[in-house]
Amino acid sequence: MPARFPIQWHITDTCDQRCRHCYIFTEGAPPVVTMPYDVCARVVDQIEDLCQCLGMDPYVYLTGGDPILHPDFWRVMELLHSHGIRVAITWSRLRIGTC
Ligand code: SF4
Repeated sequence: MPARFPIQWHITDTCDQRCRHCYIFTEGAPPVVTMPYDVCARVVDQIEDLCQCLGMDPYVYLTGGDPILHPDFWRVMELLHSHGIRVAITWSRLRIGTC
């Protein structure tokens, strides 16, 4: 079994929390951005190509911001699933049972 190639992927900076330690919402930070779905699809293709070249299995850590707030979060999940890419999600954990 090939080794895993971990990828931390920030699909959106959007978050409805304002943790004091968070670098995204500090004064002078760049504007909050969200990656459009068509760009996400290209990134998934690039992840697959890179990992094929390396002979490794991609393992994507979806994060943000809160990745669950990405407007196409479930489409991105389906896309990763359709490519057989394993995923872990790091989010604010405030919506368990609501999404
Ligand atoms: S939940 Fe995460 S992304 Fe949101 S404000 Fe807190 S540290 Fe930042």
